[in-house]
Amino acid sequence: MAKANMSPVKNKMPQQDPAVRIRNFNEVALGYTAEQAVDEAKRCLGCKAHPCMTGCPVSIKIPDFIAKVAEGDFEGAFQVINQDSSLPAVCGRVCPQESQCEKYCVRGIKGEPVGIGRLERFVADYHREHCKEAPAKPEPNGHKVAIIGAGPAGLTCAGDLARLGYDVTIFEALHLAGGVLVYGIPEFRLPKAIVQKEVDNLVAMGVKVETNMVIGRVLDIDELMKDDGFEAVFIGTGAGLPRFLNIPGENLKGVYSANEFLTRTNLMKAYEKHPETPIMHAKNVAVVGGGNVAMDAARTAKRLGAENVYIVYRRSEEELPARREEVEHAKEEGVIFKLLNNPVEILPTETEDRALKGFVAGMKCIRMELGEPDASGRRRPVEVPGSEFVLDVDSVIIAIGTSPNPLIRNTTEGLDTNNHGCIVTHGEGGETSRTHVYAGGDAVTGAATVILAMGAGKHAAAAIHKQIMDK
Ligand code: FAD
Ligand code: SF4
Ligand code: SF4
Repeated sequence: MAKANMSPVKNKMPQQDPAVRIRNFNEVALGYTAEQAVDEAKRCLGCKAHPCMTGCPVSIKIPDFIAKVAEGDFEGAFQVINQDSSLPAVCGRVCPQESQCEKYCVRGIKGEPVGIGRLERFVADYHREHCKEAPAKPEPNGHKVAIIGAGPAGLTCAGDLARLGYDVTIFEALHLAGGVLVYGIPEFRLPKAIVQKEVDNLVAMGVKVETNMVIGRVLDIDELMKDDGFEAVFIGTGAGLPRFLNIPGENLKGVYSANEFLTRTNLMKAYEKHPETPIMHAKNVAVVGGGNVAMDAARTAKRLGAENVYIVYRRSEEELPARREEVEHAKEEGVIFKLLNNPVEILPTETEDRALKGFVAGMKCIRMELGEPDASGRRRPVEVPGSEFVLDVDSVIIAIGTSPNPLIRNTTEGLDTNNHGCIVTHGEGGETSRTHVYAGGDAVTGAATVILAMGAGKHAAAAIHKQIMDK
């Protein structure tokens, strides 16, 4: 057996220099070389109790795939991961590993945990670059299932059902499949080609992808089931409806929701010279919020040429909900953190020309301090009287969260939802209050993570298969 690598720290991931990367949209982290991956894999102790697996929502056999990497059998490692995850190149990049698998790694007790996410990414990239075979088309089983929404939940559900021989059609509202993976998470964190390859694989297996199909407008769920003969429907429509602050000035031109800002940039390529949809390239930009979405919007604004980009967040650094890595990357790229500040008004510009172009004249904020803990257990931010000031910005991006779009619940008779607008499910398989209608991902949980959405899609596929086979 190869000698274990007892280094207390992870092998560093090569990445683009911050001064260079803020001028392009290419991926920041460059991935391990084969040597680095083997060396990192040797840090794994192959623990019999495999605590790391308890932190993975889809229970990837982590010690087994890492052992294959340590032996240099990268394709073997891919086959191990593929038993439980259909999007490893995505999850290896965007999973919050520090609060999932890596949080439970025993190597983390006296040093840094094994770089499980980095190894997963390496293995998935190796497979994509070396295995050119398109997946085989499974034998049809004669049953039809509709999937609404082509995000990670819908794509995973579709893939699992297609492998079992189902005739699967995905209905997607946008002109491209991938959900948040293509319209939300920027290219510099997750290259779109990786997501497209997953979609291409599904199509090769026979999955039909109908884009520009807003279910609830063009067709509804009853029509899909009664008129088009779908025996089951999976709803994976996500949580794409932005929340706002409800402060004066929020409707001004020059104020964007993070979803709109990121969609225009990612999907419509607003950074190109002649984009399909323009975005005003502001000099000073405030992003309100402290999560991953806020970091993505701030780092995107930098790449669009803004000189000063501020994260305005009402609590302190400790409470920032974004991944540590994203906060560090944003800081390296020059994003300025205005912590313990809350916006109270966005000010209109008095210059007609600038107003028409979509600029604002600044954002009035008030300083905050932390008081007693609230229901979430975090200390409640309270305003410091008389501390108002104007932050000199000409554009504002609001990134304070999203909830599910009401369209599906408003057009589907008998579909139970809770008071956050999320679809209510009962049972592991995402069964809803409507017979033969299943749901999963952000549409059920509210904004969450890629791997949880994927897990929900997997469970629903298994439940749909059981329901149809038991008929
Ligand atoms: P979505 O990905 O939202 O996909 C839903 C799809 O359904 C969309 O394509 C939508 O157009 C379509 N749709 C909606 N309504 C209809 C309709 N009526 N008819 C047809 N189609 C419809 N998670 C992480 O794990 N790590 C990260 O680093 C991370 N970063 C993020 C950054 C941003 C900017 C955002 C917005 C989210 C991020 N997330 C991250 C969260 C993660 O992307 C989501 O939890 C995940 O994508 C949810 O998957 P889903 O399939 O449920 O929904
Ligand atoms: Fe860790 Fe995510 Fe991979 Fe699971 S899918 S092993 S949580 S990186
Ligand atoms: Fe390897 Fe860490 Fe999992 Fe142990 S807990 S098997 S060291 S990854």
